[in-house]
Amino acid sequence: MPMSEDLRRRLEPILDDIAAHFGTPFHIYDEKGIRDNAKAFAQHFQTPEGYREYFAVKALPNRRILELLASEGIGFDCSSIPELVLARMVGAAEDDIMFTSNNTTSEEFEAARADGGSIINLDDISLIDKLNPFPERICFRYNPGARRTGNAIIGNPVEAKYGVSHDQIVPAYRQALQRGARRFGLHTMVASNELDYRHIAETTRMLLDIAALVGQALDIRFEFINIGGGIGIPYQPDQADFDLAALSREIRQGFTDFRRRNGYTPQLFMECGRCMTGPHGVLVTRVINHKDTYRRYVGVDACMSALMRPAMYGAYHHISVPGRNNGGPRQTVDVVGALCENNDKFAVQRDLPALAAGELVVIHDTGAHGHAMGFNYNGRLQPKELLLRTDGRVELIRREQRIEDYLATLAFRPDIMQPSAGA
Ligand SMILES: *Cc1c(COP(=O)(O)O)cnc(C)c1O
Repeated sequence: MPMSEDLRRRLEPILDDIAAHFGTPFHIYDEKGIRDNAKAFAQHFQTPEGYREYFAVKALPNRRILELLASEGIGFDCSSIPELVLARMVGAAEDDIMFTSNNTTSEEFEAARADGGSIINLDDISLIDKLNPFPERICFRYNPGARRTGNAIIGNPVEAKYGVSHDQIVPAYRQALQRGARRFGLHTMVASNELDYRHIAETTRMLLDIAALVGQALDIRFEFINIGGGIGIPYQPDQADFDLAALSREIRQGFTDFRRRNGYTPQLFMECGRCMTGPHGVLVTRVINHKDTYRRYVGVDACMSALMRPAMYGAYHHISVPGRNNGGPRQTVDVVGALCENNDKFAVQRDLPALAAGELVVIHDTGAHGHAMGFNYNGRLQPKELLLRTDGRVELIRREQRIEDYLATLAFRPDIMQPSAGA
């Protein structure tokens, strides 16, 4: 089920008021939903050795959201300098940040190690040389190569640019050991929006197997394994929630087996984005136009600059119309934005309540990889972000982009150079 009934009940009665105050379009996130979900994860996955979620900052890089996640004990998965800066703005330091980059520059590694540092997760064996001095604690991202799991967004691991290959994994840790590393982690990320818990459980077993293999080969222990993100959310109304309890059971069993064979257990880390915030946000936009040509179009005041997923992945986002849940005339329409690209559609041939100009439309599950993927093509600016707080008040947590923002990078000191011909 998309946006929860609980959120719908709390949001719909106040939506007109919020829209009148802040104007449309906007994303609005639900503090209660995000906190409850974070607590559910902690309950399901807490182990004696320790569990920690490192929220994938790219999913919802908003300072206020990171603040509330941090207050739930969550750390951050960063992969760029701006993401590191954002995480540190909310007080994250060494243990609170996993720096999981790829195709990384020396500057990025320096930033990851400055200002309190982070846990460095290396994407390739060749990057070992970029770390001088070598850190005491190191993690490698493992790419398993040919196997069943993995899906369309991430693709086949053999074709994926990420991670250290199977043949390189023991040499990678051996080199790290030789350079002085004494604390070790192991990471992988081979799923995206996976709704079947068995695939994530299988990934966990795979990582534990690799931890055992490397551990025995080099006589080292792993402080943690990080099974990545990729836990899915039900975007479609007929999809069931991800079965966290079943995953928790399988993971515990895997850890028990590992302990029996290896005499210890590592901590369990995850770095989910989508499932932490995705269902706890919606995009609210107003109907501004209708158009009847070969199809009926409903034009709204948001466009793909606010939500790329339908255009980029053909992704389904459920749409509801407040106050129109029971009966009334319906129409099959395309819900479109104003961007000059024909894939700028939030819904294609969707059966919806017949919509009048001025009505509010709620596009579900935009709390992750929604606003964050926004862009400015065609001079389309990005909308504001709001937070529905547990105290019932609504807070602006990012203003909308303005024309000044669009023009900001055109204000610079003139710089014209004459290349020396053929020198
Ligand atoms: C994007 C990403 C995540 C989060 O993925 P979700 O599907 O949002 O859970 C986690 N780890 C890495 C390395 C990523 O690139």
